[in-house]
Amino acid sequence: MVEELMIDRAVVDGLFPADLPEPGHWEERYPARDLPEGAKVTRIGPSPTGFIHIGGIYVGMIDRDVATDSGGVYVVRIEDTDQAREVEGALEQFDRAFEYFHISSDEDRNRGSYGPYVQSEREQIYLTYVRHLLRQGKAYLCFATKDELADITARQQASKVPTGYYGKWAIWRDADPADVAAKLAEGTPYVVRFRAPEGETRTSFVDAIRDRLEHEANRNDAVILKSSDQSPRLPTYHFAHAVDDHLMRVNLVIRGDEWISSVPLHQQLFAALEFEPITYAHIAPLMKQIPGGKRKLSKRKDPEAGVDFYIGAGYPADAVLYYLRGLANGRLAEVPLAEALATPIDLSLCGVAGPLVDLVKLEDLSADHIATLSGQQILDAVRAWAVEYDADLVPVLDNEKDLALRALAVERDGVENPRKDLRKWSDFRPAYGFFFTELFVPVDGPADERLVPLGVAPEVVTAFAADLVAQYEHLDDPQEWFDQIRALAGKHRFAPNAKEYKKNPDAYVGSIREASQLVRVAITGATRSPDLHATAQALGASEVLRRLRALTS
Ligand code: GLU
Repeated sequence: MVEELMIDRAVVDGLFPADLPEPGHWEERYPARDLPEGAKVTRIGPSPTGFIHIGGIYVGMIDRDVATDSGGVYVVRIEDTDQAREVEGALEQFDRAFEYFHISSDEDRNRGSYGPYVQSEREQIYLTYVRHLLRQGKAYLCFATKDELADITARQQASKVPTGYYGKWAIWRDADPADVAAKLAEGTPYVVRFRAPEGETRTSFVDAIRDRLEHEANRNDAVILKSSDQSPRLPTYHFAHAVDDHLMRVNLVIRGDEWISSVPLHQQLFAALEFEPITYAHIAPLMKQIPGGKRKLSKRKDPEAGVDFYIGAGYPADAVLYYLRGLANGRLAEVPLAEALATPIDLSLCGVAGPLVDLVKLEDLSADHIATLSGQQILDAVRAWAVEYDADLVPVLDNEKDLALRALAVERDGVENPRKDLRKWSDFRPAYGFFFTELFVPVDGPADERLVPLGVAPEVVTAFAADLVAQYEHLDDPQEWFDQIRALAGKHRFAPNAKEYKKNPDAYVGSIREASQLVRVAITGATRSPDLHATAQALGASEVLRRLRALTS
């Protein structure tokens, strides 16, 4: 740093409020945390420029685990320095997402003594440290206009050198203080840039997941404070990261691997600010299989990238977490759900290649999980989901609570292999809706289109159904119950089995298969259903009769 090129301390100080605290003030205000040896203070920094990504839940879950497991603290900090791109409702969506997945924070915008936890409320703190660097010449004012910067980039591209603001291209790096004073006098807006140290060529650091990584040192004079014509005056991500993680006494930064290339700059910023270096763990991103390869799961292209996809469809949080835990630490996919949820994620076992998010696998795992729940647990979860996402279903469930439980008990209670017909709560309506009078659409006479594929003549349907209605007995024993249908079917010239029917089709109106399918469609509305006798039992005799009667007219 050439002394005579440094702008005057008075000029620097004149750029800031007179009562702006010194760094010591903040150091005292945010003391080192009193935590057990080895405790990790982790954080996530979602930006309200969009809704949270399933990757945010993935990283938040890891942060939460590592903090809890080490007796540390997990912080949620809102990184809203890009105010122009802020999206309405984003903060509420973050809360909803973390709550759904039970990822609670120890400190966030509602609690904690290392706040504010929203970057736009931390202007004073950032300004203190910007002034501190400016006073020492470790940062400088840059008045380059957009056009000048575009021109620099164009010339760099033409001469095939790396783009950026460095070396001879950094036109304000070594500007004459008189020129700076003149610009300030004119009121020209400026940004503050970090003066990248000279002479460093390579740098390395130990990543908690990837071990030692070596990189070219940063040469770029990164912007640390955005334009002076904006209010509040906000830092860039890089500067805020250094200041916030230092003052919040974070000691382990777990973040996406897209930030690896920024570490050389971050190391320089920490050094210039005289902050203790911090440990990083760079997480491999969640990926999606595409024809011929894989790519990062994309918020723009993939609905399953958004957290609301899972919440809206009603994937049980535990199933999604179980799946994500298996992606983070492969061995957790090999143990039962409860064990996987209770075993902390081990950073050293996280892979460096991005794991694939496979919705089919997630759904299978979710169906397996739901199959372990009781009818009451399922009903409670479906109802809670429906309040938000299928309001019409709520009164149906409330009015017919017993029926709902009887319906869910079919092939679930007391059986070795419970039905796996629910992968998510939104599957309840298509799978179980037919049990409820309000949701069931009875067949519309013998020619109903759902009956057509069975190929039984309408007059046969009517006669058979009329007889069944007249003689129906709501028998407890499945065999006996079915035998009455079999007997009636025989009487109405349905063959006793498919083979017999095939041999002599002209002698019959169909086989017992068609006859029982008529009954099934009448009772359930579909040709596939849970066990028919158990379903009829759950519905009760009068409802079964009402549905069978619909076949006759
Ligand atoms: N606000 C940053 C982001 O949205 C956070 C990165 C970090 O964790 O440091 O990606």
